[in-house]
Amino acid sequence: MDSKRKCISCGKLKPTEELIKITREHKSGDIVIKPNSKTFGRSAYLCYNQECINMAFKKNKLNKMLRTNTNIDKEVLLGYTRLTNKI
Ligand SMILES: [Zn+2]
Repeated sequence: MDSKRKCISCGKLKPTEELIKITREHKSGDIVIKPNSKTFGRSAYLCYNQECINMAFKKNKLNKMLRTNTNIDKEVLLGYTRLTNKI
């Protein structure tokens, strides 16, 4: 569990458990926020903070990373920042 991933907004390398994983499911094309280990597809990672989430949407980075035009629910992502104490 020591694998590290890069936040698409701030570019910092962090352990995966400190990042929100967002996956575009390979077959259905559905966007899954915090997918389980069985979800297979292209993924992007974001810090648990509003700044990184806002930036990812402002620059449309999330959609570009996931190569999708699906509307990703920003409020759902921001909800995770309220549930966690991590900054
Ligand atoms: Zn970040």
